[in-house]
Amino acid sequence: MRILITNDDGIEATGLNVLEKIATDLTDDVWVVAPETDNSGASHSLTLAEPLRMRELAKRHYAVKGTPTDCVIMGVRFLLQQQPPDLVLSGINRGQNLADDITYSGTVAGAIQGTLLGIPSIAMSIISGPVETGQDGRQAPIWETPMEHGAELIRKLLDAGWPEGVVINVNFPSCEPGAVKGLAATAQGLRDPGFLRIEDRLDTRGRAYYWVGIEPRRVKPREGTDLWAVRSNFISVTPLCLDYTDQKTREKLAAVLESAKEVPKAPPAEAEQAQAKQAQGRARADRHSQA
Ligand code: MN
Repeated sequence: MRILITNDDGIEATGLNVLEKIATDLTDDVWVVAPETDNSGASHSLTLAEPLRMRELAKRHYAVKGTPTDCVIMGVRFLLQQQPPDLVLSGINRGQNLADDITYSGTVAGAIQGTLLGIPSIAMSIISGPVETGQDGRQAPIWETPMEHGAELIRKLLDAGWPEGVVINVNFPSCEPGAVKGLAATAQGLRDPGFLRIEDRLDTRGRAYYWVGIEPRRVKPREGTDLWAVRSNFISVTPLCLDYTDQKTREKLAAVLESAKEVPKAPPAEAEQAQAKQAQGRARADRHSQA
C-alpha cells in the first residue's frame, strides 16, 4: 500500500512527523509532500497566479511553496503519477477541526483534494487550546494519543470502506491514550458563531490593524456530534459529503422556480460519477499508450 501524507501546519510541524510514524506502521511506502509554511485556515485554496516551487528534503520528503491542495496535486499528478497512492492522510493538525472549523481547514482540504482525485482520504486533527479543553492558556496536544490509536483506527476504516465522494474527518480528544473511551462515528456539529471576533489594535506608527480572534466559548454540544465526542474523550470519526447539494431545498426550489418544462433534471450523482470514471480511465489509457 502506498500512502501520501500532507498537512496544513507545514513541513516542520510535529503532527506531520507523528502521522508519518503512524503510516509507517501500515506500510513502508510512505511519501510526504507538505507546505513550506503554516497554511492553517487556507481551506481548499489552489495556487494559480504564482508558480509552485518544490524542494526535496530527503528521500520521499518534499516541501512545496503552496497550499495543502497544491501538495496533494503535486504528489498524485506529478511525483507519484506512475503509481498513485492508495490512501491520502492529512494532518495531524495541531488543533481541532470540528463543526464549522471544517469549512476553514486546510487539513480537511488536503483530504478533500485526495478524494476529488479518486483516492480514499482521511483528515486527522488533535484537540488543543482553551475552547475545547476548557482550560486556560495554550494546552499542548497529547501526541501519544494518536500515536497509540492512529494505525489501528486507519486499519478499521480501510476494512470498513467508504463511498467515493466521502471524506473521513478524525479528531483525537485531549486526553491520555489510556483515557480514550473508544471510537465514535459522529455528525458534524455547530459552533456558537459568537466565538469569532475582530481584535482592533494599533501598530507602532499609530495605524490600525486587525486580527481575527477566537473567543473561548463552549456551548453544550448536541449528543452524537463531533464536538460532543471529543469532549467525552471519544475519538471522533465524521464522514463528510463532497456533494453539498441540499436535496430537500432543491426540490422545494424546483417547484417554485421551474414553471416551464424545459429545465433538464440533473442526472443522479452515481451516473455522473460513472461518467467521470470512464473519462479518467480513457485519459489514463491515453497516457500509457503515449509512454
Ligand atoms: Mn493547521
